[in-house]
Amino acid sequence: MKLTILGTGDSPGTPVIGCHCRTCEHARKNGWERLRFSILLQNNGKSVLIDTSPDMRKQLLNVGVDRVDAVIWTHSHYDHFAGFGDFYRVQSGVNVLSSAEVLEDIGRFMYFMKYRERQVEVYEPIKIFGMELILIDVNHPPMRRSHGVVVNFRGKKIVITGDTNSEISQRSIDEMMNPDLLIVDAIAPEGYRLRKHMNAGDAFSLSKKLNARKTLFIHVGHFYQPNSKYPIARDFQSFHFHENLALDSFL
Ligand SMILES: [Zn+2]
Ligand SMILES: [Zn+2]
Ligand SMILES: [Zn+2]
Repeated sequence: MKLTILGTGDSPGTPVIGCHCRTCEHARKNGWERLRFSILLQNNGKSVLIDTSPDMRKQLLNVGVDRVDAVIWTHSHYDHFAGFGDFYRVQSGVNVLSSAEVLEDIGRFMYFMKYRERQVEVYEPIKIFGMELILIDVNHPPMRRSHGVVVNFRGKKIVITGDTNSEISQRSIDEMMNPDLLIVDAIAPEGYRLRKHMNAGDAFSLSKKLNARKTLFIHVGHFYQPNSKYPIARDFQSFHFHENLALDSFL
């Protein structure tokens, strides 16, 4: 199973249009950027997207994905669903999974598109293309519902927090415990007080609480200095998860 972080940016991305802060200028000068948030899971020749960012076209072309087999939407903010039309135009019968509330909220924007809605129960495992996925509730006011995703694959566990502040329910914390990889919302460094998101301090506290083996920050804004010391993911960073790493060494 391969996981690729297609975009590590917050909703405006980096550089931000019209912003000339040190980070945005550094990005322009050195030709780097942070695309909006989406994660690609690939297994058994199938591709599943967690969120469909407004940069979707560029992201799918970059990784060479010809067909999207399923989409999971975490919540109804623009930066998490608006790129759906980029591949909807070139393939039919796209399966889209989420809670009833998120499907309904995004459906109001997508009224002119046809896709297969698959309503799923939060906290109920979904078996999909050899992976087990579990949607959990996180906390992202004023959204009535926002989800994180737990991915279980042959003894490996990946937790993606989705957009959330630090007030996550105990039930969700229990579901998220002991991940091999934690991909965590950390939009700004410590010191930023945020209602909708976690800052770096909140993200580190969550990582410690969950006993995460490896932690990467995503949904990152231009508030971080370029080349900062934080464990910030890079656009198109990818990971392979194997059934038994020890076995690989015999081959
Ligand atoms: Zn977002
Ligand atoms: Zn800026
Ligand atoms: Zn959001």
